[in-house]
Amino acid sequence: MKLQQAVAEIDLAALSHNLGIAQKRAGSADILAVVKADAYGHGANTLSNHLITSGAAALGVAFTHEAIALRESGITCPILVFFDRDNIREIIDYNLTPVVFDVTTAEALSKEARKANRDLPIHIKVDTGMGRVGFCMDKAKKEILNISRLKNIRLEGLMSHFSEADLENKEFAEKQVRSFVNLVSELKQKSITFRYHHMSNSAAILSMPDAHFNMVRPGIMLYGYGVPEGNDLKPVLTLKSTIVLLKKVPKGTPISYGRTFITKKPSVIATVPFGYADGYCRALSNQGEVLICGKRVPVIGRVCMDTIMIDVTEIDNIDYHSEVVLLGKQGREQITADEIAAKTDTIPYEVLTSIGQRVKRVYRKSG
Ligand SMILES: *Cc1c(COP(=O)(O)O)cnc(C)c1O
Repeated sequence: MKLQQAVAEIDLAALSHNLGIAQKRAGSADILAVVKADAYGHGANTLSNHLITSGAAALGVAFTHEAIALRESGITCPILVFFDRDNIREIIDYNLTPVVFDVTTAEALSKEARKANRDLPIHIKVDTGMGRVGFCMDKAKKEILNISRLKNIRLEGLMSHFSEADLENKEFAEKQVRSFVNLVSELKQKSITFRYHHMSNSAAILSMPDAHFNMVRPGIMLYGYGVPEGNDLKPVLTLKSTIVLLKKVPKGTPISYGRTFITKKPSVIATVPFGYADGYCRALSNQGEVLICGKRVPVIGRVCMDTIMIDVTEIDNIDYHSEVVLLGKQGREQITADEIAAKTDTIPYEVLTSIGQRVKRVYRKSG
């Protein structure tokens, strides 16, 4: 049986290309490829394997269950878990590397590691200005000293995160780097050192060379987005669907819920089986455009849960086999996640991670 007719085509050659750009910018620093949220909607298992084979040293996910799924698919490299403090047992059992941001969790990890007769590597996170997880800077030194005395715990990494998303203005980010570097040297005076220091997400990899240290954490740039244009990144994902019904309608025909669109002339309308449940934001009602036969056509009326309607009156030679591109390239035209994000008042991260579970991911190796 054919499932839903939409596919997300994932171009693994583009992924390697983007990883290459991250590696080039980061110089000798190790790459920790961020594959949380199913690799930003691209499919974490296949992408993780490809990223590791292409040179990434480690992976990063948000939650323990994401890391366990990767382990169960056969991935053996180090996996950092960014935001979990509950699954102590699983962290040990699956050989994961926790990011630690409070002493209680560190103590629990130490206890469990001791039971398992293991030496657990951990990365400690400090909050240099993000206001999210991490030890506050005024207490960080003391608490890290306490953690360093715990048994069966190895301080492998010290990390922080930037709060400036696009880094157009670097003043605050530079302040974050200074306070991170200060802490590193204060800890060094107490003989506490780390194998890895890391702060940089995609934006910082491209614009904050002083913050690369010896590990960087690219996410969105691996998928071809999120940083200013003109950087040679290649979008990895193309979202394609088809047509379930083509029909000719007279002038004055209302289209979709609420009749927000009424045809102004005799028209040809196609129904495309892809809706907001698949990640086509409802804010694209009467705003979106898709590609068909290499041309842009408008989404008309409201976006439904499973379908959109498009006006194909101006397209010749259209039939049921005509491919509809919702995101990506077709011929000379391209719709980017940035374009959709701008129309829906969000960021490309959300556009990519919203692509639903009904959409089959298919992987291509060629460019
Ligand atoms: C998501 C995330 C990243 C990756 O950020 P991008 O902006 O996608 O490059 C890096 N580090 C942490 C801690 C994250 O949560």
